[in-house]
Order: sequence, then structure tokens, then C-alpha cells
Amino acid sequence: MSAVDAAVEVTVNRESCCGAGQCALAAPEVFTQSEEDGLVVLLDPNPPAELHDAVRRAESHCPTRSVTVR
Ligand code: SF4
Repeated sequence: MSAVDAAVEVTVNRESCCGAGQCALAAPEVFTQSEEDGLVVLLDPNPPAELHDAVRRAESHCPTRSVTVR
């Protein structure tokens, strides 16, 4: 698999995030929560291949659909 095929781009929407934390549970290397407002903070918009399953889990578990993986 080439690097291009393997690349994903993760985005988060802090406007719709409710701070449920499912993303940070699923992929703590990629998502955390702000100590100030509890909302999602994206740590790595281009995570390595071994984290792709985890970020897709975060996408599907987010109750407000604030995580997008492309
Ligand atoms: S799972 Fe969704 S709502 Fe919860 S902190 Fe992450 S982005 Fe926000």
C-alpha cells in the first residue's frame, strides 16, 4: 500500500462537539479534550496507519458526529 493510499485526514467540529469524550477514549493518540471547556482537541490530523481503525471508531462513536475521517 502506498503512502497516498494509506493517508487519512481527520477533522473535528468544535461547534457541534458536546464533550462526550468518546473520541479520546477510542484514539487517545489523536484526540484529547480541552481542560478549559471539555471540547475535543485534535492532536494529529494525519494519524499513522495503525491508528486508522481507532479514528474510524471515534468517528462512528461520536454522538454528535463531530469527527470526520476522510
Ligand atoms: S466524541 Fe464527539 S462529542 Fe465527544 S468529545 Fe469527541 S468530538 Fe466531541
